[in-house]
Amino acid sequence: MINMLLLGPTEDLEEEEEKDVKSGPIEKDLGIIGLGPAGLTAALYASRSGISVIELGLEYGGQMGLAMEIENYPGFEMISGIELADKMKAQVEKFGTKVVYGEVATIDKVDDGRFHIKSDMGEFIVKAIILATGGRHRELGVPGEKEFIGRGMSYCATCDAAFFKEKTVVVAGSGDAAATGSLALSDVGSKRIYWTSRSDYLKCEKIYIDRAKDRENITILYNKQIAEIKGTNTIEEVLFSDGTSLKVDGVFAEIGAIPNVELAVALGVELEEGLMKIDDDCRTNVAGVFAAGDVTSKIVNPLMRQITTSTGLGTIAALGAIEYLQGLKTKQH
Ligand SMILES: Cc1cc2nc3c(=O)[nH]c(=O)nc-3n(C[C@H](O)[C@H](O)[C@H](O)COP(=O)(O)OP(=O)(O)OC[C@H]3O[C@@H](n4cnc5c(N)ncnc54)[C@H](O)[C@@H]3O)c2cc1C
Repeated sequence: MINMLLLGPTEDLEEEEEKDVKSGPIEKDLGIIGLGPAGLTAALYASRSGISVIELGLEYGGQMGLAMEIENYPGFEMISGIELADKMKAQVEKFGTKVVYGEVATIDKVDDGRFHIKSDMGEFIVKAIILATGGRHRELGVPGEKEFIGRGMSYCATCDAAFFKEKTVVVAGSGDAAATGSLALSDVGSKRIYWTSRSDYLKCEKIYIDRAKDRENITILYNKQIAEIKGTNTIEEVLFSDGTSLKVDGVFAEIGAIPNVELAVALGVELEEGLMKIDDDCRTNVAGVFAAGDVTSKIVNPLMRQITTSTGLGTIAALGAIEYLQGLKTKQH
């Protein structure tokens, strides 16, 4: 149910390069992992500077692609995440970035200091890497959750709201994603949306709270932690840890993201609070490896996980990588 429409075409390599993939890895100056705002911005700066760039990503637009209505990206009063990703992608391709939809399995350092990227869409050798791998949804970890995935259990209200018209749902979470998700469900005409926070406050922007309070089909409940999800074929009831329960048709867990750091860890990148540790130039501790966006130690505060902050870090990472590549060239002469 979630996200399938957000996956890009199966292949985006030109015919000639497809043949190269079969005969051996394609060589580029820079490899960028991530098709979210951080990766796409990094690709824009890098390819405009004249270096060759391959950009790989699984989910088109990253988490941004899940946002139905973005109204805090400068220059656009209102735009959907997918529309914004389309514009960013068109811009990077105009300057020569090769965009590939696929999952990166491993990145290994090779003896000459370059990096070998292995993905389900081919292999690539690059001189520098930018990791802009963002995050994936966090789970509630309660009985019934896994059992009802796709049968009422969802992790993206903005993606799945349309399936819950005239239904009663619980949205768990206190941040912007829970807020915009509740509003999306209200927009499609869900009968009742119980927006629940496990504490006595909400962490999202105030404007969303004001809007939710104006909607007659949204009820905000504080100090409510889901303990169990019950049903037969589909979800029928949610039990809370305070002993109360609600009869519902769906549950949306909008409780934040887990940083995608596995590729970085395998490469020897140091972490800080579970995020890729970077310096002011977005350099990691591994020479030639840069990081940008939500997955970095610059964005510890969840409120800062925004498109604007990701694009900013994408810019800095690209400038760092360009300088690194120029340094390599100078050494060779
Ligand atoms: C529902 C929702 C609504 C939001 N609304 C707003 C909003 O209105 N305004 C705002 O500013 N922010 C919003 N955000 C937050 C914003 O989307 C994120 O802060 C931003 O997308 C982070 O960008 P990023 O590029 O760092 O990472 P992401 O967007 O998470 O992108 C990560 C990319 O890395 C790729 N990737 C990871 N691992 C691999 C791998 N092994 N192989 C290949 N690819 C890989 C993913 O497929 C993806 O393409 C919202 C988020 C959500 C979930």
